[in-house]
Amino acid sequence: MSGTRDGRARDQPLGRCPICESMIPPGNLLIRYESADGWPKLFAECPGCEDPVHPQ
Ligand SMILES: [Zn+2]
Repeated sequence: MSGTRDGRARDQPLGRCPICESMIPPGNLLIRYESADGWPKLFAECPGCEDPVHPQ
């Protein structure tokens, strides 16, 4: 299940769900935007919660 990591950035997860701490795969990205303070933000569907969250 976890033997396919090769250290490349291409398929890295978007981050971790702030609610259930699941790793969110890149395919779950819903939208990417810049917040008012200039930081790029991601909005992605958590595979654990099945809800849109901000990956950390
Ligand atoms: Zn979650």
